[in-house]
Formats: sequence, C-alpha cells, structure tokens
Amino acid sequence: MKRLKKKQIGPWCSYCEPKTTKATHRQDGFADIFCCHNHRYELILNEQENRKIDTHMTEADYETWNSL
Ligand SMILES: [Zn+2]
Repeated sequence: MKRLKKKQIGPWCSYCEPKTTKATHRQDGFADIFCCHNHRYELILNEQENRKIDTHMTEADYETWNSL
C-alpha cells in the first residue's frame, strides 16, 4: 500500500459509495485500487489475498515442471 502524495490525491475510494470519498492510499502493484483513510484495512487484506494467489500459482507451476 502506498500513501498518495498531495498532488496524486484525486481518485475516489474503491470501497466507499461511488464518488463520496477521496482516496488517500493506493494498492501496490498494477491494480488501480484506491482507499480512503477508513478503508486502509480492507486494502491491506486485499493485498494479502493477492499475495496468496501469487504464491499458489507459483507452487502450481513448480509442480507442473516437476511432473514433466
Ligand atoms: Zn473508503
């Protein structure tokens, strides 16, 4: 999670009702998910879920290579 700099603030929070709250943080990586101060925890959970999926895919690839 990255904190938006003052000049980057502008996108809406991805978890609040649309167009109600400006985001203060952004998810790491390429996903365009933003969150406001109140939704930082949701964004952290989302990042952790994405990391689990990455790990799982890596393990599956490894098994594929092993079975060849
Ligand atoms: Zn929010």
